[in-house]
Amino acid sequence: MTDPISPLTSKNINKDINKDINTANPIKNNDAIVTQMRTFIDALKQHNYAYYVLDSPILEDSEYDQLRRSLLALEEQYPDLVQPDSPINQVGDMPLSAFTQVTHDIPMLSLGNVFDYDELHGFMRRVNDRLNDAQKNPEYEMELKLDGLAVSLKYAHGKFIQAVTRGDGQTGEDITQNAKTIRNLPLWLAAASDIPLLEVRGEVLMPKAGFERLNRLAEEKGDKTFANPRNAAAGSLRQLDPAIAASRPLAFYCYSVNQGLPEHIKTQSAALAWLKTIGFTVSAVEVVQNPREAQAYYESTKEARSELPFEIDGMVIKVNSLALQQQLGFLSREPRWATAYKFPAETVMTRLHAIEWQVGRTGAITPVGKLEPVKVGGVTVSNVTLHNFGEIQRLDVRAGDMVSVHRAGDVIPKVTRVWTDQRPENSEPVTLPSTCPVCDSPVVLPKDEALARCTGGLFCPAQQVEALIHFVSRRAMDIDGLGASWLISFFEHGLVKTVADIYQLHNHQEELITLEKLGEKSVQNILSAIEASKHTTLARFIYALGIRGVGETTAQNLAQQFGDLDSLMAADIDKLLQTPDVGTITAELAYKFFRAPHNIEVITALREAGVHWDKVEQVASEGLPLDGQTWVITGALDSMARDEAKAKLQALGAKVSGSISAKTTTLLAGDKAGSKMAKAEKLGVKVVGEDEFLALVGEK
Ligand code: NAD
Repeated sequence: MTDPISPLTSKNINKDINKDINTANPIKNNDAIVTQMRTFIDALKQHNYAYYVLDSPILEDSEYDQLRRSLLALEEQYPDLVQPDSPINQVGDMPLSAFTQVTHDIPMLSLGNVFDYDELHGFMRRVNDRLNDAQKNPEYEMELKLDGLAVSLKYAHGKFIQAVTRGDGQTGEDITQNAKTIRNLPLWLAAASDIPLLEVRGEVLMPKAGFERLNRLAEEKGDKTFANPRNAAAGSLRQLDPAIAASRPLAFYCYSVNQGLPEHIKTQSAALAWLKTIGFTVSAVEVVQNPREAQAYYESTKEARSELPFEIDGMVIKVNSLALQQQLGFLSREPRWATAYKFPAETVMTRLHAIEWQVGRTGAITPVGKLEPVKVGGVTVSNVTLHNFGEIQRLDVRAGDMVSVHRAGDVIPKVTRVWTDQRPENSEPVTLPSTCPVCDSPVVLPKDEALARCTGGLFCPAQQVEALIHFVSRRAMDIDGLGASWLISFFEHGLVKTVADIYQLHNHQEELITLEKLGEKSVQNILSAIEASKHTTLARFIYALGIRGVGETTAQNLAQQFGDLDSLMAADIDKLLQTPDVGTITAELAYKFFRAPHNIEVITALREAGVHWDKVEQVASEGLPLDGQTWVITGALDSMARDEAKAKLQALGAKVSGSISAKTTTLLAGDKAGSKMAKAEKLGVKVVGEDEFLALVGEK
């Protein structure tokens, strides 16, 4: 067995092959081919073991299939060199397990496969070649290729007696006790009570939703997760404790009758219809007359694939007549009368070369994975979003890693797995950039927030257009006539970069007039509106700055709280938190905003250009019942959100702070009050409960 730490993939094997095979010397040539074949064989054995015996693959199926195809191609080209232990004709692998082994009455084989319309034609041609003229071009039946694990079930006079896995095709494991826990598996078939022995086969699978739930729970508990629903189904069925198997969301879909089929049933489609009437779940079935119809059904199912509640990896196309199936017979590993028509892989492996940070129009800093381009779900993908820093940590992904990329339907591709066992030695954990990759302003990741943000909102080129449009909007500086399209045009012509440049536009009158479709009159109107906007209110100005989380109401509250811009800009987080409606995230974002040097430059330029406002009439808290008191809120309140409680206290004149200090007068403690409670007790701060608070604010 090859060291599982360095799995062989078609990529790292293929590197030197062509060089060796293309040599001129035929004897040496044969050696090179055999060496090549042996390398593929070793790799396939290693992967079969991990997949079939351990239920824990060490590479994606698409990679495995590529390896298998590479060996098959070599064997077809050099039949004399085929190695005796080649796994090409092998079905599965026999797991080393504690279950009793059972020999199948009729071997359980695998399926050949085709990947496109030409190959489908090839399959149908091979079928025709074995049929006489009257039999040629038979009817076919198509089913979903369910991505689970094949199981044979036996019923004696309608009573369920045995379930056996496929194993190596000849011998499988007796999993009767576990199979009994599968909810839709019938334990009694009244309609089959007169059949002495009925053997049916089908797929045990785990629906996608159940699989995700199972993996989520495993992740929370720190247990090993399953690579895919197929491995999860296999692992669950082979649990020694039936109680564990019972807790897993498994389902059984029946697709054939292998012994005991009533004689009047002559086709595969009729057999499935009969299975349904006697109590089995069967998947969708379609009868087709020619390759075009088969292709159309394949295409429409491929479209609907992502909406199905379980995974399918293609269609199975079978000659419909059971008599013709019998006549066509089997090759060593697969029937001649059926094949799998596979869908393009939805999950593939590729290398993630780098992680780049992008800045969105709202300042969100998101990581983007740069991939070795790879075809997944039928399209080539070279970038994949990694969403946020937390996701990077959750996946534990690093530049240089081999990753699995999943793309189902139209859903944007995502990294579903990182193959850490194949990690390059010198790789480094990813760190969040401390400064914006576009403007170099500090980056902030507020506590409990998923997205990191650039703080250079007024300056950062990535955010400028958005900042400009917001700044002139009606509820902000209200610059009438200067709409988004003009702003974008001015921005593209280099006339404005930051919002402060708007107040310098009068210096560019001639350039403005020469701009397409903008006449002298319009320019004058815009310049007058800009001039008029210089006289505003502090609340509008704060709102116009576009600080994340500071909407109109918060801007008004900040104006009320601080009375002037300089005090607001100088405020620390605790002071900011005393403002109604300002929580920890907004406080932190506002604090950082006013510390970014470029933002200060823009604000200074705006004031120098003449932007001004009337003095704010602050409503005095004097005389209010809680004037002079500083409250802190901790824990969860039953009756209202903490922000609401804060607003109520402020309306009574109290200051509300985020942390306990010697200046704190009262701590309002809700449910699960933690360290703040301990600190309050230590400092001798008065603690009130929710009832007392409600009485105070007149709600009780
Ligand atoms: P297969 O899954 O490609 O096809 C045969 C199987 O299809 C049958 O045994 C049956 O279980 C199933 N099937 C589903 N729906 C069916 C239907 N309606 N009618 C008939 N059969 C139906 O072949 P396989 O030999 O079971 O396994 C090969 C698969 O396992 C490949 O997809 C391969 O990528 C994967 N594999 C992966 C690794 C790895 O390391 N990742 C290793 C080994 C195998």
